[in-house]
Amino acid sequence: MGPESERQRIIIITAPSGSGKSTIVRHLLQTLPELRFSVSACTRSPRQGEIHGRDYFFISVEEFQQKISEEAFAEYEMVYAGKYYGTLKSELQKIWRDGGYPLADIDVQGALRLKHYFADKALSIFIKAPALEILEQRLRNRGTETEESLRERLQKAEHELQWSNSFDALIVNDQLDEACQQTEQLIRNFLPKGLSV
Ligand code: ADP
Ligand code: 5GP
Repeated sequence: MGPESERQRIIIITAPSGSGKSTIVRHLLQTLPELRFSVSACTRSPRQGEIHGRDYFFISVEEFQQKISEEAFAEYEMVYAGKYYGTLKSELQKIWRDGGYPLADIDVQGALRLKHYFADKALSIFIKAPALEILEQRLRNRGTETEESLRERLQKAEHELQWSNSFDALIVNDQLDEACQQTEQLIRNFLPKGLSV
């Protein structure tokens, strides 16, 4: 699959865990109706409330490896030990066929790969908290992490922040409203004129 037509634009959003990516993505999907969440395949188990085909395509490691050999992914990564995540070319094609633009919410390494794959057809955005201490505070307030997983995420964040300047745009999520507005504006400017909402 090559990025052949004008319509084949893609938005890539990435961030260290806790930076506010999910919150901003939710805002974008509500305010820009032409954006469609790109549903990834992954090999972890569904969490409570997650639905196959809406949140992820939950598949086995064998199925995932089969898809790798069929070159079904535009990018894939082992994001956590033993857990694969990947962006399916078929999912992107479906969104474009339906007249939308895919929004890929993926990890930092995957985002770099996907940007490389789509080049100027992709807008890649890195979201970061104003400081590591604030990131830690937000993760604690979210109340989803054990002390161990918190440490793991903060360590990973420090590493991922080294890549923050390798994207088309960097958004510092200090005031949430402002970060949402800035991200929304970047996307409006990027989508082809007359096609954007
Ligand atoms: P991510 O998807 O990047 O892991 P979330 O969207 O879950 O991050 O945000 C992490 C936590 O920080 C959530 O509890 C969220 O409500 C909160 N949060 C997000 N943005 C801000 C902000 N600008 N100021 C304060 N808290 C925020
Ligand atoms: P979670 O298991 O918490 O849903 O997601 C873990 C991480 O995997 C998040 O950073 C998420 O953005 C990332 N992720 C989700 N889908 C993909 C994908 O298709 N490719 C890559 N590289 N990362 C993904």
